[in-house]
Formats: sequence, C-alpha cells, structure tokens
Amino acid sequence: MFEQRPFAALVRELPATTPFVGPETVERRRGAPFRARLGANESVFGPSPAVREAIAAAAADVWMYGDPEMYDLRAAIAAHVGAEPKNILVGEGIDGLLGVTARLFLDPGDWVATSLGAYPTFNYHVAGLGGRIEAAPYRNGAVDLAALGSAAQRAGAKLVYLSSPDNPTGSTADRAELAAFIDALPPAATLCLDEAYLECAAAAPPEIAHDNPQVIRFRTFSKAYGLAGLRIGYIIAAPEVVAAYNKIRNHFGVGRLAQAAATAALADQSYLADVLAEIAQSRARIAEIAREARLRPLPSAANFVAIDCGRDGRYAAAVLDGLVADGVFARKPAAAELDHLIRVSCGRAREMDILAEALPRAVERAQSVV
Ligand SMILES: *Cc1c(COP(=O)(O)O)cnc(C)c1O
Repeated sequence: MFEQRPFAALVRELPATTPFVGPETVERRRGAPFRARLGANESVFGPSPAVREAIAAAAADVWMYGDPEMYDLRAAIAAHVGAEPKNILVGEGIDGLLGVTARLFLDPGDWVATSLGAYPTFNYHVAGLGGRIEAAPYRNGAVDLAALGSAAQRAGAKLVYLSSPDNPTGSTADRAELAAFIDALPPAATLCLDEAYLECAAAAPPEIAHDNPQVIRFRTFSKAYGLAGLRIGYIIAAPEVVAAYNKIRNHFGVGRLAQAAATAALADQSYLADVLAEIAQSRARIAEIAREARLRPLPSAANFVAIDCGRDGRYAAAVLDGLVADGVFARKPAAAELDHLIRVSCGRAREMDILAEALPRAVERAQSVV
C-alpha cells in the first residue's frame, strides 16, 4: 500500500489547479502548431535588436550566477521611473513577485480582495498560502473601484489586487478615482497595483508617492518589452517594504541573461516607442476585424483587445473554439460578468490577416452550434 506523502496540510487540501493552460499544451492537444499566437499577450514584435545583442554577448558568461542585488539594473530602473534603487526590487516576473508578496503578507486564513475574473495568478498564490479571497464584480466591462474598495473593507483584506490597465478587459482606472481609492484604503491594507501593461497606455502613469507603504506597483519586461520567455519584472515600493521582500525572496532567481536583456531593453526606449506604435495600430485593426464580424470590441489601453461576442458564455466559448480550431490562439475569461468576452493579443500584419480570415468563420460556426 502507498500512503500519501507527508505534504503540508494545506497542500493536501488544495485542488490541482493551474492558473493558465499554456498554448503549447493546446498545440499538443490539437496536434498542430498555431498559425497566430495571440492568446497570452506576449509581444509578437519581439525584443529590440540591442537586447538580442546583449543576450548573445552575455551567453558565454552564463556559468556565473546573476548579481543577486541586481545593482545595475535596479539603478537603471530607478532612474527610468524617477525613484531610488532602494525603492526597486527585481524578481522572476510579476507572477513570481506576486507569490513572494503573498508570502510576505499572508498567514493562513487572512483575507485579500480582488475583482471576480481579474488576473488569476494572484488568487493562485493566495490560495497556495491558505489565504481567503473576497471578489468584487466588474461593472460595464471595467474594474469597479467602489466595489473593490467595499470588498476590501468588508473582508478586512491585507492585500488588494488591481490591474490597471486591466487584464482581461483592457480598461484603465481613472487617475483621480485611483488616487481617491488609495487614500481610502483601510490602514492595514496594501494595494498590489499590477501595471503589466502600463507602457501600452497612452495616458500618463498615475502619480503615486514611491514611499507610500500601502502601494506596491508591479511592472514587467514580458509585455511591451517582449521578454516573456526570460521571466523578469520588478516592483516599486517603499524602502521598508523592499527590505522586507529581501528577507524571503529567491536571491538568485533572476539569471544573468535576463538581467542583461532587461538592462538593454530599458536603454532602448526608441525601440519601445516603435513597438507601442505597432501595438496601437494592431489594437485598431483588431477592433475593425471584430466590428466586421459584427462583434463589439472594448476600448483597450493594453496590448490586446477584449471582444464582446454579444451573447452568453457558451456562445463566446464557441467563437473561441472556432478560432483555436482554425489555428488562432486566443483566450476568454470564465467569470460570469466577463464570460461573453474573448481576448485577442496584438500582432503584426500577418497575424492580423489570419485573424481577419478566421474570426468571421468562427462566428459563423458558433451561430450554427449554439
Ligand atoms: C501577463 C501578466 C502578468 C505576467 O507578468 P510576468 O512578469 O510575465 O510574470 C502579470 N499581470 C498581468 C495583469 C498580466 O496580464
């Protein structure tokens, strides 16, 4: 007889969940590669040529661990965002940093607040620590800050999660409303402000004092900078909060190549500007393709567009299935308020042409099956 291994009590009770099924898994299932990879909000435009050179130049040095203090990169990030290096912590992407954040704040049974259908990796880490989740509904395809604030109050949340620009809707919190929201946070609550798509937004970033101990801003090199495969992101927070992360973070978690690539990416702002122009163009093209298929695109400040399929979740799922069957990787949220949406990432002209061909076919197919 095999007995269960002596896993921690919490792990024994946890269901087997993954926040996302990867496109490679779907490709293995369908037995063919995707023609257009537009489901994970990666940057199809790729990293800057200077980044590729930096990676190539650093390749021979990978026998060395990366600098655990990430000194040069933190200095470059601090200069870029107008903060001090003591305000910056670099980690294994926002996903990794969210995990450390949950460990930093939560004891089993502690509450967090988020929006129902928001980016799931936050919830995943919270559940993995035995935290409890109070979720506020979205309203009109956008995060409802008032509802999120009451959820935080009601639950006595230690962490409050907000992504702005938001994934999966593409909406952005209004600057004044966000400032009021932060001012009204209960004293024991800390806002995790996920700014994965900040670079893509046309509007100026919200002004938040870097030394405000109640706000932790999360940024990444995975999206606009095109480095998703390297796993590197950072937080901006008050120095005492950064110091606390240093007690528990994985000090050698960010490798040399990732550090070299991120430093080079940050230095090439003109390439970033070119990519942002491509993203803006692609957002407009996705919206046009959606309208031509008689669907309703939502306004987006990110590198993707959420598309309202106009009927229920089953119908949206059928449209999505049609796209996937046709070789287009896209995704859809599952939460009730957002169930009628599918989400398509920006791409080059060639991916957009494939989408333009596949979406009307997927809609036609969905109409015949649902
Ligand atoms: C893509 C995404 C992330 C993941 O960022 P990594 O730095 O690649 O871990 C985090 N938050 C949101 C809202 C995202 O859409």
